[in-house]
Amino acid sequence: MNAPARDVTLTLGMALAVMFGGCHGEPAVVPPASVAVQSPQHVMVKRSQMLMGTLAFVTAGAPNEQIAQEAAGAGLAEIRRLEELLSTWIPTSDLSRANAEAGRAGVAVSVETLDLLTVSLEIARLTEGAFNVVIGPAVEAWGFPEHPRLPQQARLNTIRPLVDLSQLEVNEEAGTVYLRREGMRVDVGGIGKGFAADMAADVMRQAGATSGVIAISGDIKTFGRMPDGERFLFGIQHPRVEGELLGRLELEDEAVSTAGDYQRYFVQDGVRYHHILDPVTLVPARFCQSVTVVAKDGVWADGLDTGIFVMGPERGMALVERLPDVEAVMVDQAGRVVVSSGLKSRLVLLEVPE
Ligand code: AMP
Ligand code: MG
Repeated sequence: MNAPARDVTLTLGMALAVMFGGCHGEPAVVPPASVAVQSPQHVMVKRSQMLMGTLAFVTAGAPNEQIAQEAAGAGLAEIRRLEELLSTWIPTSDLSRANAEAGRAGVAVSVETLDLLTVSLEIARLTEGAFNVVIGPAVEAWGFPEHPRLPQQARLNTIRPLVDLSQLEVNEEAGTVYLRREGMRVDVGGIGKGFAADMAADVMRQAGATSGVIAISGDIKTFGRMPDGERFLFGIQHPRVEGELLGRLELEDEAVSTAGDYQRYFVQDGVRYHHILDPVTLVPARFCQSVTVVAKDGVWADGLDTGIFVMGPERGMALVERLPDVEAVMVDQAGRVVVSSGLKSRLVLLEVPE
């Protein structure tokens, strides 16, 4: 996943950008169907690269093409930089080093890693433990993402002490992270992409972009508007009908993130087992098919979608209604769509063919 891969550049004009999280872990960003004329004052450049185990798309709008290109390049470079700090597939990353020292010592990590883990703990608190960045050993027991399989209950029982979040020590003053038990692992798979999208947006703005979209799999962050002054338009993937949209939503200076049971899963004896685990039972959370969260920042949208997915529509929606600037649309296990109060007037639900 580290190999620098294809870097596609295309220049976009005024167009409808419909984007949505894809199936089976693949990103699905639907490029504009037609590329219309560019506004002379606003050029949009779109680039993509394999980053964080998926195809990341960055779109930068700027007064001229050179600035747009530079901003898009800076956005991709920022995602790569964060991947090197956060990926547990990279042995030298902050998190890999912390994991290697689990049960032995705290390790010094970057400010970015400390910030991300601090927000992760805050989201864990708000979701009453449903969001858990030390769930890694359980995800591994289920073999996600590479070799998914049903684990033995005995194995899950031995793992339980390793997913105890109270044993993760994030010391902002000392700048260290310490996993108190050997075998524990911190893994930001449920929140890191949203965080990276926020940071990429910041560097793109600093590079002169006046608008932009960063899409890392189902985690999307936007700033500004399209060249024609319209807001960016997003489609939410239907959790059961591949390639169909559940609804459409306009965004401005917001992030959107979707957690779904259709992204990584296997079916055994008619039961769907997916990659979002309930930290209490250590089995896939069963209340939702998908949860899409809209928030100001990607890190919140991404962390909350995973946590709320585990909490389920009732407790999850109650939390969304309590949090300022957070909205959500959920599809429960029966396929019913639940929309938060602040999103009702904004979300356009679409007819889906049976
Ligand atoms: P997302 O697509 O944002 O919902 O993230 C899914 C990923 O988060 C999974 O592939 C796991 O690596 C990780 N994960 C699974 N269950 C949890 C959980 N309860 N809390 C935090 N992260 C989780
Ligand atoms: Mg998430």
